[in-house]
Amino acid sequence: MKTVGELIKSKGSNVLSTTPDSSVYDAIVKMAHHEIGALLVMEGDKVAGIFSERDYARKIILQDKSSKTTQVSEIMTSNVNYAEPDHSIEQCMSLMTQKRFRHLPVMDGDTVVGMLSIGDLVKEIISEQQSTIEMLNTYITA
Ligand code: AMP
Repeated sequence: MKTVGELIKSKGSNVLSTTPDSSVYDAIVKMAHHEIGALLVMEGDKVAGIFSERDYARKIILQDKSSKTTQVSEIMTSNVNYAEPDHSIEQCMSLMTQKRFRHLPVMDGDTVVGMLSIGDLVKEIISEQQSTIEMLNTYITA
């Protein structure tokens, strides 16, 4: 199975981000525009947090707050879990399942080198299982 680094190479290392002082509204607009569910929150080249559509649902809508007057820093998650390039897809899956989130930035030292969603991992696992099934089919029918 591919490592996180190999997956990032094939997926691309473009990471969409926002800043702590952006409004939640602007962050949601960016997420909608790029059809993604989370943004990394960057302060210069340092990771300040992560902001996902669940933060919006739970901390804006349910608490009757305004997305235009609330800053991302007020509702983001500051303690960001991340993967490293030599981690396995299984390690990422188990971290996401255990911690109940669907996004995982990839850090190489202090540098952000990618972002994986649970969808990227599921896609990769299905594709690898498909290859195994095809290989076994060839083996059985040969
Ligand atoms: P998600 O399932 O990714 O939409 O996120 C659910 C909750 O977990 C939200 O409060 C996010 O801010 C938080 N979250 C998402 N990804 C991470 C991560 N890699 N590390 C820490 N918290 C996260």
